[in-house]
Amino acid sequence: MSFGNWRLRCDDCGCFIGKNNTHFGGVYFGGPEDMEPPEARYLCDKCEAAEIAEARKSGRMPTRWVTADWEAPIAAELGFRWAALPGAAWGAWRRELPDGWEWVEVPDELK
Ligand SMILES: [Zn+2]
Repeated sequence: MSFGNWRLRCDDCGCFIGKNNTHFGGVYFGGPEDMEPPEARYLCDKCEAAEIAEARKSGRMPTRWVTADWEAPIAAELGFRWAALPGAAWGAWRRELPDGWEWVEVPDELK
């Protein structure tokens, strides 16, 4: 990603972030009231660390349309794998396989 002269702001706390401490924070699902698809989130070091700490503390992984950069390694640490229904474009982090679901690799377009 090229930042040029632009400086991003963290989508959580609003602080300015530089190209060396910008973390892709994933993309949430949109809602029926949204006029456009939701935008990608970018986080500062502090806010990414807070999301990771929350996942470790709660033992839960977030549910998003596109996963954040930190999710795959933390999911593995917490015992989660990506699972999806056969043929579905989207899946979820799971510890146990729901009926009919399969363990799959996280699709490239979701990470
Ligand atoms: Zn922040």
